[in-house]
Amino acid sequence: MSLAAFLRRFRRVLAAAIALAAAVTATAGCGAAGGEPYTEDLFAMDTFMRLSAYGRFAEAAVRAASDEIKRLDAAWSVTDGDSEIYALNSFGRAEVSPETLEIINFAVSVSGETAGALDITVYPAVSAWGFTTGEYRVPDDGELSAIAPLVDCGAVKLGETSVELAPGAAVDLGALAKGYASQRAAEIFKERGVTSGVVSLGGNVQTLGRKPDGSLWSVAIQDPEDGERYAGALGTSDAAVVTSGVYQRYFEAGGRRYHHIIDPATCRPAESGLLSVTVVADNGARADALSTALFVMGRQAAETYWRESGRDFDMILITEDGEVYITDGIAGSYTHINTERELIALTAPQRPAQPGVQTEG
Ligand code: ADP
Ligand code: MG
Repeated sequence: MSLAAFLRRFRRVLAAAIALAAAVTATAGCGAAGGEPYTEDLFAMDTFMRLSAYGRFAEAAVRAASDEIKRLDAAWSVTDGDSEIYALNSFGRAEVSPETLEIINFAVSVSGETAGALDITVYPAVSAWGFTTGEYRVPDDGELSAIAPLVDCGAVKLGETSVELAPGAAVDLGALAKGYASQRAAEIFKERGVTSGVVSLGGNVQTLGRKPDGSLWSVAIQDPEDGERYAGALGTSDAAVVTSGVYQRYFEAGGRRYHHIIDPATCRPAESGLLSVTVVADNGARADALSTALFVMGRQAAETYWRESGRDFDMILITEDGEVYITDGIAGSYTHINTERELIALTAPQRPAQPGVQTEG
């Protein structure tokens, strides 16, 4: 990664970290006594991460969760020659661990539910655009049409302990790995007796319980067009809040901007009219998978999906037209910060709109 790219990413991560409410302020190595969290910062899955927990079990829990994230990163990296995914992509078949089977199985099922908007076999396209290595380039039409037939979730065959790919196919769990990892981190916190904690893995935030003073965690939603501002902030507890957006990873060439969320139907950066999608759900892997899929689908299809999936998640969609759509389950706990954007609540007939949607302030 170039120094400029590193600094850009560092600034973004810093902004995300600061947004994690005033409670998460202690530095790594501080004790967990006196109401201070035990916090560890790490770089894994190609992103900056911060894990914080409160109480007397905090240090052991944070260390164990951090180890688990590093373990998953080592298993799922597309570039690390020792990873399970690297072996699968190189040989077309690999013996894999139960959680690798689980996440691939889950990804394939979300792919089916979202008409292929999430598709882990999009990796050859992600790679052609240089998002894997940071050596960005714009592939020509011929190259993309050669890749297109390889992008198909039907190329993934799951065995009892192994996975097999169709010839030439390759997978990348980047769209949901951080969500799965944040979920695991929260589970480890819980298993180890932590009742209050928060993990932030790039754009993936997962909260456990509430802040020690009983208040909600506040998760800032970045303005996708202005790195210095927040679109809004969301009060949350025991939930994953995951954002996929055009600003997270991109490059510019020939006066155009190309971002890292690829539409599997075109093998090009998705042009769905959205700038960012935030998904709030109980399960981190689901929230992460959906944030990517809904981004590809666009506002209308995302709204239909939300209504038809039993509304077991909530979302915030920020459009190129300057609107912020928010579903009724979270509208009451959202504070709209960038009021230049119009706030529109999505309500469903069965569930009355929550009062307290803030349109200014
Ligand atoms: P981030 O990794 O920045 O949090 P996402 O969760 O949206 O963002 O995942 C984007 C990553 O997932 C890309 O970097 C790429 O590796 C992979 N990817 C891109 N488009 C898709 C897609 N349509 N389906 C599955 N994976 C994708
Ligand atoms: Mg995602």
